[in-house]
Amino acid sequence: MPEVKAERTGWRDPEISGRHRMWGFDCPAADVDWIEYNHGVPVAMVEYKHEKAKPVEARKDWNLKAFVAVATSAQLPAFIVRYAGDFTWWKVRPLNALAQKTVRATTRMDERTYVAMLYKLRGLLTPEDVLHYVEADGVCRACHNHPVMVDKVLCSECNGISEAFDRFGPMNS
Ligand SMILES: [Zn+2]
Repeated sequence: MPEVKAERTGWRDPEISGRHRMWGFDCPAADVDWIEYNHGVPVAMVEYKHEKAKPVEARKDWNLKAFVAVATSAQLPAFIVRYAGDFTWWKVRPLNALAQKTVRATTRMDERTYVAMLYKLRGLLTPEDVLHYVEADGVCRACHNHPVMVDKVLCSECNGISEAFDRFGPMNS
């Protein structure tokens, strides 16, 4: 039971990487980060790098080479996306010709633009509620404290207050 839960929360056993390295220098492997998909159909492969992660030298990086080979043979665009720790910017680097159809060269984007790119890859426009949600960092717009679901602007507590406000007008102080 705990293992099933761990899977769902995206927890990864760090020991498997170490164990795999023990199997030898000539048996390297990389885990594939993100497959962007739409209704189960893959639309792109993305390698995400935190701004503090060490720079990638694409030509010497065998992990990346394998990653791009998989994407290209599946006719998918492949990107490296370096992102700010506070998610304010996203630097998108195309890794194959298909990716260059979306961004011709490395392009720095704000989050709104990057998310729009991900939707465009799916042939979709970014839904307004997603934009608002991201701008509010996923928390309630009123108390700036409680997390809310994507289709909500206010947490249940603040929603109760605003309903009372609507019904009875401003309270006397
Ligand atoms: Zn609230």
